[in-house]
Formats: sequence, C-alpha cells, structure tokens
Amino acid sequence: MPQTAANAIDLPTRDVIVIGAGFSGINAGIRLRAEGIEDFLILERADDVGGTWRDNTYPGCACDVPSHLYSYSFEQNPDWSTTYSGSAEIQRYIQRCAMKYDLHDHLRFGVGIVRADFDDADGVWRLTASDGTIHTARAVISAVGGLVEPSTPAFKSRDDFKGAVVHTARWDHDVDLAGRKVVVIGTGASAIQVIPSICDEVAQLTVLQRSAPYVLPKVDRALPERMKATFRRLPFAQTLFRRTLLAITEGLVGPAVILDSPLATGMKKLALRNMRTAIEDPTLREKLTPDYDIGCKRVLFASNYYPALARDNVSVETTALDCFTETGIRLVDGREIEADVIVTATGFKINIAEPPFPIVGAGGETLAEKWGGPGGKAYKGVATAGVPNWFFMLGPNTGPGHTSVLVYTEAQAKYITQAIRTLLDKNLTAIAVKPKVMRRYHDKLQNRMRYTSWTSGCQSWYLDAHGENHTLFPGLATEYAWSMRRFKLSEYEVV
Ligand code: NAP
Repeated sequence: MPQTAANAIDLPTRDVIVIGAGFSGINAGIRLRAEGIEDFLILERADDVGGTWRDNTYPGCACDVPSHLYSYSFEQNPDWSTTYSGSAEIQRYIQRCAMKYDLHDHLRFGVGIVRADFDDADGVWRLTASDGTIHTARAVISAVGGLVEPSTPAFKSRDDFKGAVVHTARWDHDVDLAGRKVVVIGTGASAIQVIPSICDEVAQLTVLQRSAPYVLPKVDRALPERMKATFRRLPFAQTLFRRTLLAITEGLVGPAVILDSPLATGMKKLALRNMRTAIEDPTLREKLTPDYDIGCKRVLFASNYYPALARDNVSVETTALDCFTETGIRLVDGREIEADVIVTATGFKINIAEPPFPIVGAGGETLAEKWGGPGGKAYKGVATAGVPNWFFMLGPNTGPGHTSVLVYTEAQAKYITQAIRTLLDKNLTAIAVKPKVMRRYHDKLQNRMRYTSWTSGCQSWYLDAHGENHTLFPGLATEYAWSMRRFKLSEYEVV
C-alpha cells in the first residue's frame, strides 16, 4: 500500500501539499476532496498514516478522551471496543479513513520535508525533502503534529548506563521487562499509562517523580454489543452520544481546568479522593499530593495509576536525579537505584509554537523572524502574516486541555480549505493574513491567557521559557470552532 517518493527533481506544481499524514493531515485530505480540490499530495516522512498513533506504542498507550469524541464527527465508528480506545485501535481507524476517502493516490510515504521556501515571483512554495527532491505547490497545509519528537533531557553520564533506555514515544518492543528492575522517569500522561501496564511483570519499579500530577478516575469499560448495534442502525443516536460527551467536556471539564472556578475546586477534591482511596501510606500520600493549582498542568485520567503505585514492587522517588550510572541512576542525595531498563517518559519537544524546520516566507524572512521573538503567532492558529498561502493545523494556541483536539482540527480543515478554494477560484497568487488582524487576535488571546490556570505558577510544556502560553486556546472548543466557520478574504492581504 505505501508508495515511496520518486527521486525526480522536476515535480509538477500542485495546487496543495499537505505535510503529515496523522489525524490532521488525513482530515485535510478528506476536506480538500470534499471541496473538489484533487490536485494535492500528502507528504509523510514515515511509511504509514497515523502520526502519534503510529509512533506511540508503549504498553497501555490509549487516548484519555472517549473514542466516540476522539474521532472524526463525519466518520463515526459504532464499533469502538472500549470507552477509551488503545493506540492500535485508533491507528486502525485512521488507516480505514485514509482508505475509505481514497487518499492513497494522494499519499507519498518516506518524504520528510526539511525546508520550505516561498517564491515571491511565482507565488509557490518549494518544499525540500531530505533526499533533495523539491516539491512545489501553490498552498501548503502544515499538519506536522504538535507533540512528535521525543524530548530526552541531557541526563548526566547517560552513556555510562549499561542497560536499555527506552522513551515512551519510541517504545522498543524487543526490550524484555519481565522480572527486570525498571526505573520510569516522569509522571505525565504517558507515564501514568505505562506504569500500571508494566508493574505486574517487572521485578521492581521505581517511579521518579519531579512533580505530582492530579489524576482523576477514568471509567473505561468494554462497550456492549447492544450499544454498537444501536449506533450502527441509528447513526443519529451516536451523534447525540458524541454531542453529550462534548457538552460534558465543555461544560464541566473545560471550566475546571481552564479557570480557577468552583468546578476546579470540585475537581481537585475528586482527584485527591481518587489518590487517597488507593493510597493508605501517609508518606506516599504526601508525595503524591500536587503542590500547584489544578489545571496548571494537564489533568490526567487513570483508575489504575494509584493502585499501581501502592504495590509492594513499586516505589516513588521524589528526590531529584543526579546522573545515570553503569547500573542504574544516582539521586542528588547520593542514593543509587539499580535498573536493568530506564524508561524516559519525559515528553516531547513542542512543535506547536516552534517551526519544525526552516520556513522562509515572503521577502526571504523566516517564520521565526516573522514571529519576532519566542512563541508562535498565528491568526486563529492557522495563518501568519508574511507567510502567504501557508496554513497550520494545530498551530499556535489551538490545543485543548479538556476535550478532543479533533474538534479544533476539524474546524481548521474546513477554514483552510475555504481559504485555498478562494485562492484557486479567484486565481490569486498569494494571500497572507494582514499583520494588524493577526496582532489584534494574538494580543487578545494572550490577554485572556492571564486569567487561566495555566499561568498560575507551575512549569509545564504549555509554557515557553518566558512563561508565555503559545500552545493552548484559552477558551472552549465550541467557541474556537464557531470562530472558524467562515474564511474572510477581507482579513487577508491579496496579491
Ligand atoms: P509530559 O506531560 O511532558 O510529561 C513529562 C514528564 O517527565 C513530567 O512528569 C516531567 O516532570 C518529567 N520530566 C521531564 N524532564 C525531566 C527531568 N529532567 N527529570 C525528571 N523528570 C522529568 O509528557 P507525556 O507524558 O509524554 O505527555 C505529553 C502530552 O502528550 C500530554 O500532555 C498529552 O497532551 C499528550 N498525551 C496524551 C495522552 C492521551 O491519553 N490523550 C497520552 C499520552 C500523552 P514535570 O511535570 O515536573 O515537568
């Protein structure tokens, strides 16, 4: 099925190139086809679609948003096996969508873009692939994903360690954990899934926690056949179910994690009760009690995390890591912990607010220069002034902390295809959002950001080195989607 890019240098100019074939890129392809735009390619550096769900295969990897909401609204799947599906099932869903919407003629695998240059004279983008091939298009949709490249801190004497080091986002399934001593570094969304999934088989598991997360119960169960049959027969029933899930995340979870509100206080109580129900040891309870406001970092969902930490073969260390040793790790208080395997659950380099590769817009200025300082700036998260015909999916300030990211990306796919349709129909050379429009939008957004829990004093991947949030949208998903319903050419400079 996968096709590999030809090494031809002289490739024809396409109307559109989509970079990336994850959930966003596939959504973009489906939308383009729905708009009758057929002259496009989706360039994917790996050998399959799926993005995050292709790459993350660690034990226990699943989505903590219910599958009926974490799927395309226009392609509902009545057959989800559980409330929160695992990564393999989500990956199969994306593969099926690519197939059903006939995207394989448009997909090119093994094409990693390393640079993009806008040609002012011709009004086209020249995308350089890692093999030197230049792909040319009138418009580009960047769907490269927000959390892609694993981030592994530069641990001292990392190379001294004789055992295996595995990052959650690049799990090595050849590393056998059975009966081994394992150290997991990190207690984020990935760690809290992997820890309960491996604690049974390992001999000893040490969890290195830098800051304690808030963890809410996750009621995950096999979905009954009756429900699947109903959804198959009556798709509107599934739509209703999906809307109910959206309403719950928007009405209850959103206000609780975005703002310091009575709902946040309630959610905090629930998270602490979840911890205390499973953990009896007062010392461990103290370690697991977060010292920051709920919502400041991502609120996590798991019912098996705390019970895993309460096991005899699992311990939680809160003393900071000093270095790796030949046989494990050393903590700053001098204690050594033996390990056969070290799992780094240390998250990702953040792509949302930083260009993943040099992007050179109009006048030879790079995207980073156009942004002029740290953090990404984009009108509605999709368009940057001075970077014509270039559209981001999951660009700056478009991530959610409380609901399905697909609500945002679907809105973006619709908006962007309207923009591209306008570009093509009116035979314009270039459109770029007006600097004033972008600045006004960005300033307003950053002003709202001051009232969110994300800036209440903790350190998280939501914030950049200057403490600014260029990753999340400071409102509800429905508000964002509503704002994206119509592309207005009057907000753009036109060539
Ligand atoms: P993460 O949330 O960034 O967590 C990284 C963990 O590593 C944190 O506990 C962090 O501690 C710790 N850490 C980082 N550097 C460290 C160091 N030098 N020493 C000790 N500890 C260190 O990464 P993630 O768990 O991979 O999740 C990233 C994002 O992916 C999530 O926020 C979420 O958006 C997404 N995700 C989603 C799901 C899902 O179910 N939908 C599942 C997995 C991931 P601090 O907290 O102190 O910084």
